[in-house]
Amino acid sequence: MSNITVCARFRPLSSKERRDHGDGVCIRCIDTETFILKDEKEEDIIFSFDRVFCEKSGQAEVYEFLVLPIVRDAINGINGTIITYGQTGAGKTYSIEGPGILECGEQKKGILPRVVDGIFEHIKSDKMAKYSIKFLTELSSLLRDLFDLSKDNIQIKESKIQGILLSGATEMSIMDPAEALQSLSTGIANRAVGETQMNMASSRSHCIYIFTVQQELTGDKGMKTGKLVLVDLAGSEKVEKTGAEGRALEEAKMINKSLSALGNVINALTCGSGRANHIPYRDSKLTRILQDALGGNSRTALLCCCSPSVSNASESLSTLRFGARAKHIKASPRVNCNEDKYSKKNEALSPDKDESCKRIL
Ligand code: ADP
Ligand code: MG
Repeated sequence: MSNITVCARFRPLSSKERRDHGDGVCIRCIDTETFILKDEKEEDIIFSFDRVFCEKSGQAEVYEFLVLPIVRDAINGINGTIITYGQTGAGKTYSIEGPGILECGEQKKGILPRVVDGIFEHIKSDKMAKYSIKFLTELSSLLRDLFDLSKDNIQIKESKIQGILLSGATEMSIMDPAEALQSLSTGIANRAVGETQMNMASSRSHCIYIFTVQQELTGDKGMKTGKLVLVDLAGSEKVEKTGAEGRALEEAKMINKSLSALGNVINALTCGSGRANHIPYRDSKLTRILQDALGGNSRTALLCCCSPSVSNASESLSTLRFGARAKHIKASPRVNCNEDKYSKKNEALSPDKDESCKRIL
């Protein structure tokens, strides 16, 4: 069992923040793991994460530290999940997609195109493997297929061996990375169309990419399957801050419900509760989809994205506190293989009742 990896990423100040609030930043990085946030009362709060990426950190650095080990494991049949969390405008989508997933240049490429490249490099060396992607969003409490918006009621199912499955969603084989990125880019445009249909402010939906890597084991020994899930969460800011009204407000509340469900699952996993062992995964579709990621059989990494501006100090503090709590989640990923000796290793999750959750920030 090991803890999930939690990192913080601070984007550069935006020109709007500079114009409205001057150059005030509330973050000071001490070393590669430690940083200080000055809160609204001018108090210093120290955080220590697995890694802090400051404004000068590039996309390649984030990928190599946070994602590449998980991609390598997924190719070897171990589930992995990467989640970006933070208020709207904090850099979640930039981290996942980059400024655009097609042709944004090697340096600025986000996690998603790098994952596609990483998987493809492996395909070239292994002809016995099958790789596919599903791409979903949660809108109006329904799961929608971003490869085909007409599929708007994707069902969540659970299998003992394969864990959480999404049935009815389009599954696209990756044989050619350029083609995969082209389809993903259409899916990303569909996310915006879906949000507009719902009259939502942009980035008020979750975006979920699921890569599956299947390999036949030599000598007729069955199949090894690794699932890699990338999640670009909706903005975590309080609903009142979104300025939404009418239907958009209802959507914003719905999305916030799934984010609070995520917070509740993390609390239940890290602090225990009166009802020991009851983890409320079923309270939202998001937490059901992330059940493997948070519940044990996945190597999981959380990227807490923040603005460095003093004007956003309170939202950044709440994002970082979420990360500090999540740091206490323990995971026990295993190789997913339909061969008997592996499936018997399927240990039940025992939630971390570590008292230290009371000490964290
Ligand atoms: P979110 O998805 O969290 O709502 P975005 O990723 O869309 O936020 O980022 C908001 C803006 O900040 C975008 O214009 C984006 O290009 C820019 N941005 C975010 N992170 C970085 C970064 N690390 N370096 C440069 N620009 C960034
Ligand atoms: Mg976004």
